Amino acid sequence: MTFKNINQHCYIYESAVNVGYVTDGKTGLLIDTGIDKSSVKKVVKELEQHKLPLTHLFITHAHADHYGGAAYLQSHYDIHTLAPHLEEAILRNPSLEPLYLFGGNDPLPELHNKFLQGPEMQVDETAEAGEQLIGTMQVEAIRTPGHSYNQLSLLAYDTLYAADAYFGKDQLDKHRIPYITDVEKTLQSLEKLKGLDAKGAVPGHGRYETDFKDTLQANIDYHMSILHSLEVLIYKHPGGITHEEAVSRMCAKYKVKASKLPQWLLFKTAVTAYLTGLIHTEKITHAVSDFKWTFYPVRS
Ligand SMILES: [Zn+2]
Repeated sequence: MTFKNINQHCYIYESAVNVGYVTDGKTGLLIDTGIDKSSVKKVVKELEQHKLPLTHLFITHAHADHYGGAAYLQSHYDIHTLAPHLEEAILRNPSLEPLYLFGGNDPLPELHNKFLQGPEMQVDETAEAGEQLIGTMQVEAIRTPGHSYNQLSLLAYDTLYAADAYFGKDQLDKHRIPYITDVEKTLQSLEKLKGLDAKGAVPGHGRYETDFKDTLQANIDYHMSILHSLEVLIYKHPGGITHEEAVSRMCAKYKVKASKLPQWLLFKTAVTAYLTGLIHTEKITHAVSDFKWTFYPVRS
């Protein structure tokens, strides 16, 4: 865990979940908080040691590992908090995440854990995509949905704080099937970031890189290879393969770790994102057959 200075204005607190920080000397903007009070306290300690201001907080998306420390920060510091539309609704009502992962049923107790649900926080301002004046600083918010419904990445002083729009290559190896809610939007977001003019970028999980476009391409290739594997799987089942079986086969093929319900639900969502991608591009069809959601090749 290190507090790294990228340029005169930009910093990263590198950890399991990276926390960004941008300042012009007057405004001090924290980008995400890490998962809990202890993670954000470490970042604040660094800011205090370096005599850096803390005036604003920007939450990129409503996943607990990115906002779990926000409630603590808000109760101890006078900060103005921004978050994207829709994500902001989940931040103010954090039980929505276990609720949507559990398909709308009231979640079982094991889903109420700090990885899926952070403390309720307040959002002072809804952030939109485009140029933003945050305090005295001009930054650009870039829509990067696909991993989360309305995630915003931030471009400030030539540094891209990408949030979970992409993962470091080691993280792709670690997660094996990355968490996404929509594969087409994920790919569009990656292409958009590839066209960006930035001197360097840092993902939510992974390292700061100046040659980040190679990593963006590695992410695109990785998603395409999962899509291909899934398509091959479905074409091996001309009579159809059920949703449950498709999730199970993909988790087994990629050797993911999902022995408990919370992790399994995350992988189920991710595999479903690739399945809906294949439906959108008309590579496969789907139907409810014998009360089972089933996927079919479009040609035999
Ligand atoms: Zn995330």
